[in-house]
Amino acid sequence: MVVDLLDRLPAPFGLVRYGVAPDHPKMRGLSTTLQKTLDHPRVRFVGNVGIGETISVEELRESYDAVLYTFGAAGDRRLGIEGEELPGSLAAVEVVSWYCGWPDADRERVEDALRRARDVVVIGVGNVALDVARVLARTSEELEPTVMPRHVMDTLANAPVRRITVLGRRGPEAATFTTPELRELGTVRDVRVRVDEEDLPEVEGDDLLGKVAARNLAVLREWTANSEDQAAHGVEVQLRFHRRPLRILGEEQVEGVEVQSTRNTSEETEIIPADLVVRAIGYRGQGLPGLPVRAGVVENQDGRVLRDGHVSPGEYVAGWIKRGPTGVVGTNKKDARETVAVLLADAETGRLPAGRERRDLVELVRSRGAHPVLLTHWKAIDALEVALGQAEGRERLTVHEWGDLLAAGSNEISGENLQRPSTTS
Ligand code: NAP
Repeated sequence: MVVDLLDRLPAPFGLVRYGVAPDHPKMRGLSTTLQKTLDHPRVRFVGNVGIGETISVEELRESYDAVLYTFGAAGDRRLGIEGEELPGSLAAVEVVSWYCGWPDADRERVEDALRRARDVVVIGVGNVALDVARVLARTSEELEPTVMPRHVMDTLANAPVRRITVLGRRGPEAATFTTPELRELGTVRDVRVRVDEEDLPEVEGDDLLGKVAARNLAVLREWTANSEDQAAHGVEVQLRFHRRPLRILGEEQVEGVEVQSTRNTSEETEIIPADLVVRAIGYRGQGLPGLPVRAGVVENQDGRVLRDGHVSPGEYVAGWIKRGPTGVVGTNKKDARETVAVLLADAETGRLPAGRERRDLVELVRSRGAHPVLLTHWKAIDALEVALGQAEGRERLTVHEWGDLLAAGSNEISGENLQRPSTTS
């Protein structure tokens, strides 16, 4: 058996490279394990191949005995409120992909917003909301050892962030963030986290609230003792609950968020000043041309893709595009194992489609003028990133731009191409 691992981007590792927060090096270190898979003699990495662009889903199906889709949920969810389109109103996915160095990130949009971001409102109380709040709150000294592109570090270092309000529409007992991530927020240098005692529930204990909620509440309760003036020299992060956003205010750009209590029936509203609003309200799966999604997922039965309600032989799905955008990396690992077990069982019982006319994918896409990025090219990109990082005393520095990635990948590893690409200077 041979496995081709296709990616639209010239670099592998998807979420680990482009979604896991750069200040979480341990989790990002998973790429070392993933690299071992790429190095396996029966695995071939084929990057820079857009399904539905360079080749179709149909051609893919004709070229392999089985196709397993694991392209995640890269779309953002919307609040559907007035002002959401204003400059300075961003989806968390835009901010996260920008600070991770995703080549399709809209740099100008994010960097423009960050240049004026003194007061920030993050909507949502999941782990993505905490990632965004934490990265925006960190000092430049804390961010310096990360792999973020240099222009990202410079933009964050110069952003005038002073106050970050994280907003939950329900109570803290219903928040979806996890305790280690919550606690970490309080360890950020020069950050004071504040919580209003009145936002916390009166009841306590694992029995009534569940283990995670009880642990979260214990952390939040410690922060109720922090007062406003203590934050005078650093960034203040305030976690506020029971408030839903009604509209984002502003003429030319974001100026504030109007919120209303969800705890009482009062019509009264409050305006939280904001120069930047980040909605961290979840991701949304998007289909590929020739592979539709319904309600954000590819319809499937135990990982077997369903088309018109019937199992489509030889097509499988795993990860967020199979289950929806919840769960951590470990959840997806387990999920992938389950789908692969189903695929192997189908292979053993003769349920994969027979009589396919095999075409080599690399030859096919090259015949169309495309330039697939293979393992050697990726290793050249990897070497360039490591060299760029080491020149600054860091582990690596992520190359952000398509052109720079492809240029690095198209050369052999040599001293000559280990120069800083123009866009990261
Ligand atoms: P999430 O956990 O589903 O959180 C989404 C948040 O948005 C919830 O607080 C939700 O509130 C809120 N929300 C949704 N619609 C809203 C609306 N219209 N108005 C106001 N608030 C709204 O999603 P996520 O934070 O995007 O995370 C996705 C998955 O990745 C999670 O499983 C997460 O644990 C994982 N992740 C893990 C890590 C880590 O382990 N370090 C880091 C990042 C992400 P309601 O509950 O009221 O709907």
